[in-house]
Amino acid sequence: MATEKEATFAHCNRCLGRTRHTILEKQQRLVGEDYAPEVYTYEMCTCDGCENVTFRVVYSNSDDRDEFGNPNETETYYPPAISRRQPDWVSELCCIISKRRDVRAVYLEYILRYS
Ligand SMILES: [Zn+2]
Repeated sequence: MATEKEATFAHCNRCLGRTRHTILEKQQRLVGEDYAPEVYTYEMCTCDGCENVTFRVVYSNSDDRDEFGNPNETETYYPPAISRRQPDWVSELCCIISKRRDVRAVYLEYILRYS
């Protein structure tokens, strides 16, 4: 009998937006005081639309809540969330400079950070 996997909404770098994801693995860690711990939730998810896999860390603190009393959450994605598709010329450029891995790594970091 198959067990039902937990679902969530997360950013997909391939669909370039927030989509429904299936959580493949989830771990939670509480840090700090018992009455107001910081909560780190580590999730490996796959997009239900395109099957892209991402890793997400969701941080919340019980002292930080919105006007409805829900915890404000901060999401961090690995690789970082992007909002624009990588131009085709980037992969062509990577082929040209493939022998210079140091240059390629710096260039791809620049594209991810500033796109
Ligand atoms: Zn997707």
